[in-house]
Amino acid sequence: MPTLIYTESGLHPRDAVHDETVPAGKGWLHPLKAGQYFRILDLEGNQAVDTLFFNAADPGDRYDAVNTIRSQGNIFLTTGTRLLSSEGNLLLTITADTCGRHDTLGGACSAESNTVRYSLDKKHMHSCRDSFLLALSRNPQGMGKRDLASNINFFMNVPVTPKGELTFADGVSAPGKYVEMRAEMDVMVLISNCPQLNNPCNAYNPTPIRLLVWDSPAKAD
Ligand SMILES: [Zn+2]
Repeated sequence: MPTLIYTESGLHPRDAVHDETVPAGKGWLHPLKAGQYFRILDLEGNQAVDTLFFNAADPGDRYDAVNTIRSQGNIFLTTGTRLLSSEGNLLLTITADTCGRHDTLGGACSAESNTVRYSLDKKHMHSCRDSFLLALSRNPQGMGKRDLASNINFFMNVPVTPKGELTFADGVSAPGKYVEMRAEMDVMVLISNCPQLNNPCNAYNPTPIRLLVWDSPAKAD
């Protein structure tokens, strides 16, 4: 595994305008204004945080994994990654990362993937796709299934072998690791804090995350 580069943030939680802990298995839908900073903190380590971003003014313009990968010429997300939309707009930029690498290839767990990857009797277990849809159903803009494109898995480690195979490896995150990004336009954040009980990447133990937002210009510590 290559050496990971860690970048710390100067922002302090006491200055945050929003500070919330979200348990595993819960969805979260939240707006960010252009210029705000957003941090996802992995409280207990190796949690998978399935995330999508939408242009707040036009939710049909949303995070696009292919545009993001092509633009930076790399499949892993970390500090400096520009998260691009399906229309090629810049949604957010990752500004700090103490984990070092995040996945955007592995997708979100669903009843279908539970069945294919694990076994038929796992079909009815909680999944990120269900959490995404439940959170979206509370959105007055009437979003739903059609708005679920390929997502980001923050803190998840999905290395690609020389043959091009995806592998779900042990996590590279740990308690207290975080990733932070700046909204470059008004966006909506949709998170499923993964409830998955069958994947070794979270040690079969999904855990809570802490979500913080700072106004811009942000106060340095
Ligand atoms: Zn999941």
